[in-house]
Amino acid sequence: MSELEGLSLISFDRGATSARTFRGVNPATGEALEPPYHPAAPADVERACRLADEASLSYGRSAPAARAGLLRGIAEGLEGEGGAIVARAQAETGLPQARLQSELARTCHQLRLFAGVAEDASWVDARIDSADPERKPLPRPDVRSMRVPLGPVAVFGASNFPLAFSVAGGDAASALAAGNPILVKAHAAHPGTSEAVGRIVQAAVRSRGLPEGTFALLFDDGFGVGQELVQHPLVRAVGFTGSRSGGLALLRLAQARTVPIPVYAEMGSVNPVWVLPGALRERAAAIAEGLHASFTLGVGQFCTNPGVVILEAGPAGEALVQPLAERTRATACGVLLNAGIHAGYDRGLERLRRLGGRLLAQGAAPQGDRQQGVMGSATLWQAEAAQVLAEPGLLDEVFGPSTLVVCYRSPEELEGLWLALPGQLTASIHALPEELAAHAPLLERIARRAGRLLFNQFPTGVEVNHAMVHGGPFPATSDGRSTSVGTRAIERFSRLLAFQSFPQQALPPELQDANPRGLWRLVDGAYTRGALPVKP
Ligand code: NAP
Repeated sequence: MSELEGLSLISFDRGATSARTFRGVNPATGEALEPPYHPAAPADVERACRLADEASLSYGRSAPAARAGLLRGIAEGLEGEGGAIVARAQAETGLPQARLQSELARTCHQLRLFAGVAEDASWVDARIDSADPERKPLPRPDVRSMRVPLGPVAVFGASNFPLAFSVAGGDAASALAAGNPILVKAHAAHPGTSEAVGRIVQAAVRSRGLPEGTFALLFDDGFGVGQELVQHPLVRAVGFTGSRSGGLALLRLAQARTVPIPVYAEMGSVNPVWVLPGALRERAAAIAEGLHASFTLGVGQFCTNPGVVILEAGPAGEALVQPLAERTRATACGVLLNAGIHAGYDRGLERLRRLGGRLLAQGAAPQGDRQQGVMGSATLWQAEAAQVLAEPGLLDEVFGPSTLVVCYRSPEELEGLWLALPGQLTASIHALPEELAAHAPLLERIARRAGRLLFNQFPTGVEVNHAMVHGGPFPATSDGRSTSVGTRAIERFSRLLAFQSFPQQALPPELQDANPRGLWRLVDGAYTRGALPVKP
């Protein structure tokens, strides 16, 4: 990795320096890291948006192979500099090396998965309904439609995934695969990682002869640059992963524009886990073990962290709560991502306390010369369903290694709890298979509230594949019709365009009779990969 410079990346060049700078901070030591980072000036943002708009014309029409080549080139570049990137990410986030190595592998996997989708190109969902000049009383016109790119997309990554939800993460890969230039606002908590990855993207764009505005990376330690991007008239969509407050602020800005644009914000959720009586009877200790591993994984800093566990009150529940409490007490404290996340965790615990949550168990407290300011101890809380129904604030996300056990005493309380829970990324049900049928109506309600349902599993660990849904109804996301993980994410950064009665040569290749790209298409109501018959 060449030396970091601390400047935004615009076209094949660097952004301007500024009088004010900020630095990445090692959360484990409190050390401020070199180099200083220069927030992008309004002129940098303007230039990046203009170039991205120019690039969108040619990059939006680029061949599938060109987009696939770019994504694979970025993955190769990341692997080539993987050691240095992981080391920098470790210094900026406090995340362990092994976790970051697997996050890097996941990032490269997802880039290659989107490369395959871009190359195959059937994702454009081409449809052709042929003309029928003989139709009575009016002739039927030839209508063809497909998905086309939106234009420049502003991308915001989260602090807890410095690689997989950042500069070359899922939103970046899906937007590029769909043919959109990207303008990435680097997360202020990992600027060096962002610059190192950004240079790889920049070099991959350049070496493939793609337009210079295809990619830009803009630094800022405040909200100004991000807000300018979302409000810029040439920006056409936003991909965001992060806090609810950040996602909602950007959504409001996007909706207040003269021309509103879509915001795909993936925000937090408490990922309820419901343990039914049969499962509790047969597997309480094993479920406690799995729950503990899931809610403390990565010091609890996953958006899929199970933050609420729903159980029947009584001795059966105790068989789960007791071992869970023992495991929580034996949990070492861990380094949280940064001072802001630490302060948020403290505020969340204080809220649970204030609203009547009972602290059942707490893990080891920070010791010795570790930076106590950013260390987090695991906590296990309990509340009665009646309390939660009176104080739904108990169900708000606490981002960190914490979970709340909620005990219900009647089917009405159980149903009330699920009604009180807002939209979720996931909902997990632990049950004996034969218990499910008796709860079918409630399961139907739960399905309406979540993006992913898990059976006898825990929500942390999101596979990146073609079928995954990492989304869910508001407020888990700003648009519950989509996903930010998996190849379905490509649809977010496209829109539908129909051509009526156009001559062959003026149609995009995807819609021409000969099907030169060999796509799967819906032709007169039937899927085919073939060409249309030649007209006599
Ligand atoms: P964050 O503070 O919201 O930051 C995300 C990005 O948005 C940063 O670049 C930040 O700028 C920017 N931003 C935040 N508020 C803004 C505003 N009002 N105006 C303009 N820009 C704004 O999120 P985080 O602390 O990185 O991540 C933790 C949260 O993310 C947790 O709640 C977690 O559950 C959630 N998360 C969700 C998912 C998911 O897929 N749903 C995945 C991971 C994390 P700065 O860099 O200047 O702060």
